[in-house]
Amino acid sequence: MGGIGSGQSGWRTRCEDMLALDFRKLKKAGHLMPGKLTRGWLKSPYRVAEINLEAQDRDLLLTIRCKPPMPPKWPPWQQRIPLSKMGRNRLCALCPKCGKAVQILYSGGMHFWCRGCHELAYASQFVGPEERRQKRAQSEF
Ligand SMILES: [Zn+2]
Repeated sequence: MGGIGSGQSGWRTRCEDMLALDFRKLKKAGHLMPGKLTRGWLKSPYRVAEINLEAQDRDLLLTIRCKPPMPPKWPPWQQRIPLSKMGRNRLCALCPKCGKAVQILYSGGMHFWCRGCHELAYASQFVGPEERRQKRAQSEF
């Protein structure tokens, strides 16, 4: 197994396979206004979860219930996500694990954490090293 930077990231779970909460979208849709209650669904290739969002002044209370037939049948659970203001109109979430300000939190069915805490890779990281080098070079400007 390769160490960090060896390019062998194939074993890592991809962001695309996780349940994701995108705070930019939540904000845009008005779901982060204090006092707002929202019920919705999150889907990933492996999980479906019913999710209740309760926006408060400084955080977002999630109540999550993974649906059967997803084994095991987890009871609903709650997680509080601290919110932080960045600038006048920008709002982001603070990762409950490391405290980093992020726009998207991910869950494999349990805790919503940032990409780094879940050690996730983007699907784009699965391309070959040469392609990746070109991509990086192109996206620098
Ligand atoms: Zn984190």
